[in-house]
Amino acid sequence: MSGVPHKQVFAFQEGHAQMLHLLGGKGANLAEMVRLGLPVPPGFTVTTEACRDFYEQGGQTTEELRGQIAAALKRLELEKGQVFGDSCNPLLVSVRSGSVTSMPGMMDTVLNLGLNDATVEGLANHTHNARFAYDCYRRFIQMYGNVVLNIEGFHFERLLHELKQQEGTELDQAITVEGWQRLIASYKACILQKTGRVFPQDVNEQLYLAVEAVFRSWHNPRAQIYRKVHQIPDHQGTAVNIQSMVFGNMGDDSGTGVIFSRNPSNGENVLFGEYLVNAQGEDVVAGVRTPMPIAALENEMPAVYNHLYSVAKQLERHYKDMQDIEFTVENGKLYLLQTRSGKRNAQAAMKIAVDLVSEGSISKEDSLRRIEVSHLDQLLHRGMDESKITQVLATGLPASPGAATGQVVFDADTAVEWNRMGKRVILARQETTPEDIHGMIASEGVLTSRGGMTSHAAVVARGMGTPCICGCEGIQFMEKEKAMQIAGHVLKEGDWVTLDGTTGRVIEGSIPLREAEMTPELTQMLEWADEIRTLQVYTNADNPKDAETARRFGAEGIGLCRTEHMFFAPERLPVVQQMILADNIGERNRALTQLLPMQQADFEGIFRNMDGLPVTIRLLDPPLHEFLPNIEELLRQLSQLNGEDPETPAKKKELQVLIRKVRLLHETNPMLGQRGCRLGIVYPEIYDMQIEAIFLAADTCMAEGIDVRPELMVPLVGHAAELQLIRGRIEEIAKRILGAEKSKVLAYKVGTMIEVPRAALTAKQIVQYADFFSFGTNDLTQMTFGYSRDDAEGKFLTRYLDQKLLPQNPFQVLDTDGVGQLIEMAVAGGRTVKPSLKTGICGEHGGDKASILFCQRTGLNYVSCSPFRVPLARIAAAQAQLEVKAAEERTPAAVL
Ligand code: PEP
Ligand code: MG
Repeated sequence: MSGVPHKQVFAFQEGHAQMLHLLGGKGANLAEMVRLGLPVPPGFTVTTEACRDFYEQGGQTTEELRGQIAAALKRLELEKGQVFGDSCNPLLVSVRSGSVTSMPGMMDTVLNLGLNDATVEGLANHTHNARFAYDCYRRFIQMYGNVVLNIEGFHFERLLHELKQQEGTELDQAITVEGWQRLIASYKACILQKTGRVFPQDVNEQLYLAVEAVFRSWHNPRAQIYRKVHQIPDHQGTAVNIQSMVFGNMGDDSGTGVIFSRNPSNGENVLFGEYLVNAQGEDVVAGVRTPMPIAALENEMPAVYNHLYSVAKQLERHYKDMQDIEFTVENGKLYLLQTRSGKRNAQAAMKIAVDLVSEGSISKEDSLRRIEVSHLDQLLHRGMDESKITQVLATGLPASPGAATGQVVFDADTAVEWNRMGKRVILARQETTPEDIHGMIASEGVLTSRGGMTSHAAVVARGMGTPCICGCEGIQFMEKEKAMQIAGHVLKEGDWVTLDGTTGRVIEGSIPLREAEMTPELTQMLEWADEIRTLQVYTNADNPKDAETARRFGAEGIGLCRTEHMFFAPERLPVVQQMILADNIGERNRALTQLLPMQQADFEGIFRNMDGLPVTIRLLDPPLHEFLPNIEELLRQLSQLNGEDPETPAKKKELQVLIRKVRLLHETNPMLGQRGCRLGIVYPEIYDMQIEAIFLAADTCMAEGIDVRPELMVPLVGHAAELQLIRGRIEEIAKRILGAEKSKVLAYKVGTMIEVPRAALTAKQIVQYADFFSFGTNDLTQMTFGYSRDDAEGKFLTRYLDQKLLPQNPFQVLDTDGVGQLIEMAVAGGRTVKPSLKTGICGEHGGDKASILFCQRTGLNYVSCSPFRVPLARIAAAQAQLEVKAAEERTPAAVL
């Protein structure tokens, strides 16, 4: 590097909250708290830029950076009146990571740095507390050994366990100073044995190596996985915060804890959290001891509690959001070590956002912007059928609400492996550590026997929206047997268990889950979203029940009714097969006559449930062979016919005919073969039956006084002539069934899917015969990329995503660069001919936030998604409108 050195170290008093990208979340907020005059132990932050430089230099800190750290340390010594490495009154520091986006527990921390054989004596003398000083020293060696020297934690845990056995106690607090000294000696011996080097006594070396270790921890496997899941960019890097130590382990008037300014599980406006007396920070988060609820602090240390309460409220007002605050009490004095926006589950997020609006803290628009739409999805899926509960085995802490059922496994790797095999799993552990992150992701729910509401398992599970029960002390793990004992029951690996993360109940067996009800806060938020959004939200529903559910969730119409789903019902499939395999038109018509009343009844049910709203019915789309028996299965049956059976010759003939017909219908590329409108053109009688069923149903429902608004949709059109032909038939059948009068009263529409690239390219021609365009982005993606959607996800697409060749799965998040261009082109083309052309999207992307934003930008009229995603889409549509509006305000229209 050349030129003027960059400032890469900032004292807390030099920073502020807006410096998030440079100082990381922790550093920026520590600086902001200093600006607010809150009690923060002094310190400084090494920037994220320094971390990026570190990697550019091949994993080395520069002389320049070391110089800046040394200068900042000098100023800290002056401020504290202590000297780093001094044997009388040593300055001790913590070294903590702090990335731009919070990644709880994913990177490393070292506490009590600056201790060595001499300074520990100084600390003991200065505090008149040798036991405390040696407790700090053994903690430091353990953390340093683990984080900086890469010695696995269990080596230290084992030595600590042996010491406790010798001393005949389970409790840290009961260990004597001599005990800690013996442990320190064995820790040092362990380090010498594992690394071939003595534990470093030079405090500066300790510091620089710790800073480098924190930089390196940005790339540890668990941090990488966490970033991938939460889509945090890899290049950001972490800042490092070096802060003078305050001690929560100084005795019974000291302690440490984590609080949330509101309850992160349900959003209630009460202080929520936990603390441990006579302990250091990591003890709470690690879940090693079960902490006390924060309410108990009000009795134990009332002055500290009141101070903490007022600070929490002040920070919440300042940041206009619920805060997650880490604190330490040293000899009765409160210190703040961190504040950040608290992670919360969906239910809490909704309540907090609505409450902050009614408290006048934020606007409706702000509250909507803050909603994490992916959380809504979970909110709307969870719960269980209480009447089916057989036996509650135990109750733990309700750490992350929602119900989950699955087969129990006891380690993260098995969770991943079983999940890959398609099994639903519940991960049960004594406690989780950041090493278990991949297993937690693969699990439906997480259960731990230790740790509290702010333990690793609880925090991570809440962030992911995974149901979780912590501190379920009734569980004993039987490692060798791969089993756990719980209330006298033994559950082996693979046994079914159900968790209710809302109440903390662990339930035997698999309990059916049920969808959640809408909370008043969600209803309120959705009303605000409806006031703001301009995109309409339709649903994809194929039966009256789904239509009803979607309407309850606020769907404003059906954007896609896939009629083929009605053909798969067990009592209908044989008739459908007869229709397909018919040798002549007469036989086919007989089958169609049987199918017609069934289709009509379905449509009537849907029309009734969608009274007054548009119902888009798509004519049959998939290749016919999807309804036929599997050829291999038929061949197997043929080979297994019993020669002795007198009926065999007849059966054989029947099977051979069937096999021949199925072979005749076989296609090499069925997705590009005879499907969609091609089917309707080759077998017009099939589409005719469906069209008749639609109009007969409409007629019946109109007679009942129902406001019917059918929109008939033709799939897979690639040429205007196809649509012209089918539209003609639709109009003819409508007139025949309804008569001239009624066919005018019934304001039905005829439109097309745009899902073949050629349709998008020739939109101007196609639109002549279309009242609406509905983008079938599943097929449009498949055909634009040339990826078979049935094969891509299971084969190369995962590799593409792993290698970051594609930013996202284009079947989930719309490829705006490619597929998006075709959509834009089709909308523009269609509207040059018909300016008020109705346009919408009905592929899977209709329920995806980023894709909804694209639809808003492109000026579509509606998005259509599955019933349970309707509320999510309503909020995402409002967010999209806010975003588009804000962008317009930033870039005023060019002055002509
Ligand atoms: C589509 O292609 O986007 C679509 C909605 O149709 P299907 O998924 O049924 O092919
Ligand atoms: Mg399609």
